[in-house]
Amino acid sequence: MSKTLQAVRGMNDILPDDAEVWEQFEDIVRDWLRSYGYRPIRMPIVEPTPLFKRAIGEVTDIVEKEMYSFVDALNGEQLTLRPEGTASCVRAAIQHSLIFGQPRRLYYHGPMFRHERPQKGRYRQFHQVGVEALGFDGPDIDAEHILMCARLWDDLGLEDVKLELNSLGSADERAAHRAALIAYLEGYKERLDEDGQRRLHTNPLRILDTKNPDLQDIVEAAPRLMDFLGDESLRHFDGVQALLKDAGIPYRINHRLVRGLDYYNRTVFEWVTTRLGAQGTICAGGRYDGLIAQLGGKPAPACGFAMGIERLLVLWQESGFIPEPLTPDVYLVHAGEAAQRAAFRAAEALRGTGFTVTLHCGGGSFKSQMKRADASGATYAVVIGDDEAAAGEVSLKPLRSGGEQIRIPMEILPETLADRLLELEDDDGGL
Ligand code: ATP
Ligand code: MG
Repeated sequence: MSKTLQAVRGMNDILPDDAEVWEQFEDIVRDWLRSYGYRPIRMPIVEPTPLFKRAIGEVTDIVEKEMYSFVDALNGEQLTLRPEGTASCVRAAIQHSLIFGQPRRLYYHGPMFRHERPQKGRYRQFHQVGVEALGFDGPDIDAEHILMCARLWDDLGLEDVKLELNSLGSADERAAHRAALIAYLEGYKERLDEDGQRRLHTNPLRILDTKNPDLQDIVEAAPRLMDFLGDESLRHFDGVQALLKDAGIPYRINHRLVRGLDYYNRTVFEWVTTRLGAQGTICAGGRYDGLIAQLGGKPAPACGFAMGIERLLVLWQESGFIPEPLTPDVYLVHAGEAAQRAAFRAAEALRGTGFTVTLHCGGGSFKSQMKRADASGATYAVVIGDDEAAAGEVSLKPLRSGGEQIRIPMEILPETLADRLLELEDDDGGL
């Protein structure tokens, strides 16, 4: 016998109980994004490989070792499963002239792919909600993004989420800092790990982002980028902080926060929690003023952020969110040919009035159908036997509360059910 096939390692099925929680989350997120004036955009999952090399940077973890890249067997094109959404979103905005003469507030969500070592909170297919504001240059939009996040955490009732903030300055300021950083790190060359040695002259800022515990004391004492920022960068950073203070959002400046993607400048931020172990960053973002031009667009400033849905959902449940099972209002039980036809009519009439109805399919005795009705969690069973069918009637049987089964004409089923459900709601509300 052949071996059963399994999903690819690090890529998860999301089964119905969980998928319903995902949908509830997505509903909240959609309302939240609309309330800030953001509009949806959907990009392909596969993009030309050079897009990510150019946007994210050749010397980054993502491009060096995490991308799922392949050659299109039909035309030889180099393609990659997107590891993140910003590059695609900017590519789409340029391609369709979205920011011509007006700034844009955009969002997307969907799967991203990175070939990492799978562990709790770290997968090879994971999902992000991403937000991008294209064509905005002031600190106001940076602050808006942070305020938005804070509101979502509040809407979700998340606990123990903290904001870390830094400024990466401009390209020139980073170049000056880079020289000082290389000189400093040269002094510790022997102690650097393989990545560190290799990046010392290609991308030393990345070394500050290392997760290697043996290097923490070195990077802790390294020259700070903040000390190389000029007036304009400092003013921008102060502007962001003033708005955060106004809004009462606490934060910590983390001088080592550099982000794993090369396109960032000025404001960068991460929302972190201590509740998820090592994978504690639930959301990250910042400004990327150079990216649009770098990808061939007319120069325009921008900033954005992305959150990891898997990590957020775990934190949501850790913070006390209890998913409510979504159960139908009615499970429709029927036996006999005439009853089946009546059952289809009754089910459609109920759905047309807005009720959720599971119609029993696959036959079986009344007894076995009633078992299914109970297991479905439905509030009522509607029962149609030969008798009822012949009389143009249905029986309505409460499943979750006491109360008698009643027999009524089929035409008044929707209104009767509506009355009964209202009564139940009142009882639940303790009125
Ligand atoms: P990390 O430092 O955890 O590797 P990152 O800096 O690579 O994160 P970003 O590229 O900024 O992550 O992505 C934004 C968010 O997406 C992260 O903060 C995290 O919540 C989530 N995320 C990133 N990679 C993964 C992954 N492999 N599995 C699950 N979630 C992820
Ligand atoms: Mg990463």
